[in-house]
Amino acid sequence: MALTPAFLASLREALGEAHVLADGDLTAYEHDWRKRWRGRAAAVVRPASTAEVAQVVRLCRQQGVSIVPQGGNTGLVGGGVPDTTGTQVLLSLQRLRSIRQLDAQNLTLTAEAGCVLQHVQQAAADAGLLFPLSLAAEGSCTLGGNLATNAGGTQVLRFGNARDLCLGLEVVTAQGEVWNGLSGLRKDNTGYDLRNLFIGSEGTLGIITAATMKLFPQPAATQTALAACTTLDDAVALLGLAQRRLGAGLTGFEAMNRFSLDLVARHFAQLPQPLPDAPWTVLLELSDTEGDAAARLRLEQTLEDALGHGCVHDAVVAESLAQSQALWHVRESIPLAQAEEGLNIKHDISVPVSAIPAFVQQTDALLQQHLPGLRLVNFGHLGDGNLHYNVQAPAGEDPAHFLQAHEPLVNRIVYEQVMANGGSISAEHGVGQLKRHALQQHKSPVALQLMRSIKQALDPDGLMNPGRVL
Ligand code: FAD
Ligand code: ZN
Repeated sequence: MALTPAFLASLREALGEAHVLADGDLTAYEHDWRKRWRGRAAAVVRPASTAEVAQVVRLCRQQGVSIVPQGGNTGLVGGGVPDTTGTQVLLSLQRLRSIRQLDAQNLTLTAEAGCVLQHVQQAAADAGLLFPLSLAAEGSCTLGGNLATNAGGTQVLRFGNARDLCLGLEVVTAQGEVWNGLSGLRKDNTGYDLRNLFIGSEGTLGIITAATMKLFPQPAATQTALAACTTLDDAVALLGLAQRRLGAGLTGFEAMNRFSLDLVARHFAQLPQPLPDAPWTVLLELSDTEGDAAARLRLEQTLEDALGHGCVHDAVVAESLAQSQALWHVRESIPLAQAEEGLNIKHDISVPVSAIPAFVQQTDALLQQHLPGLRLVNFGHLGDGNLHYNVQAPAGEDPAHFLQAHEPLVNRIVYEQVMANGGSISAEHGVGQLKRHALQQHKSPVALQLMRSIKQALDPDGLMNPGRVL
């Protein structure tokens, strides 16, 4: 059902002609980053303020039209693109992009939902402070999208995920009311935690329009190293050793299997490959309150210990900021290299760190048994027990065909092993459309019933991003 001309006119009156797009090429809004989902929007609306968002929600509610919120459209589970019915309004937050306040003494920043993550990081840096949320999509993803998906990234080990960094939210409810919960308080025990209901709700409970986030002092020095490990057991041993020696200074611990680095070398030949091939390569980052020389020494001593212990067989510490950035660039290029290689079956699973080696060994073996020759792009935030356990077609096989033919089997094997190891089927990307059915299978019936009750209470008409999560 297309939108009525009168309804479109009321949207245009609220937002201005230029910000209600109902025809022309809407691909950028309708197609997801992975090019896995292609929907069709009845209209794309681009409000510029919280009041305009609230007005759109009220207008849609009057007409019974459902709304799909979208930030930077970098989500990986099909949560931010419309369905194929052509009846949904896509609400883009990209024009809500002002940094409303930075309180250096309270170490907080209040920014609107459409602010690109990199701009938020920059605003903090301009004030001599650190906003630690960091992920490969940071040049395009938005703060609102980060909160709606409770994004993780590479600094979770020390600073936590988006939820841990958030102190307050401003939300337009499904009724079109504005809840101003933008407190910069670190302590507030006045009833149910509304903020944490909306964080990670993927647009299904309301629209996040602004947030107050924690800032931190900038570290005096940051040092980066690569270490080569023969097994994942060795990488986990290195993690324990680094945590003991570096304490809270250990801000990054990323593992990459050989094939993920092979893909980077193949598709981004200009990037460095400073260590010879190893089954597992670990990127460690130390952030220190002392200067560069002291930080470097601590990192070198930690790696010497690890070499002595035998869990590492080769290591290199970046000698300059540029080298350190290049090492991170290699790590962050893995998803892009994978995209170049073709469609793949993505998993962002977590299991307790102690269970990671057994999980990977068992799951690799089961997959190879069922689908000989498949290739595992296995990398991620080992320090958080979170791996991107991605499955690529055997060499020479058509990736799209492989995905279509084998995704259910691959998912079943991976998720059964995740559950057997006490893990979660999504540590970072969320549920969206992609993992809706898997969620029904793997989340407890009691938890699902509680989630449905919350959805029913906050969005009784089911107009907020329907068909996602639940
Ligand atoms: P979108 O894609 O626009 O939306 C994502 C979901 O949130 C949708 O369901 C949408 O409806 C909802 N939403 C968006 N904005 C709002 C809002 N203001 N209010 C309510 N709902 C809203 N994720 C990680 O956790 N860690 C990573 O390391 C990581 N790396 C990535 C690397 C790459 C190259 C890419 C492409 C993605 C990566 N992601 C990662 C996925 C991650 O979910 C997104 O990058 C980011 O958090 C989403 O932000 P966005 O603004 O693009 O949201
Ligand atoms: Zn990740």
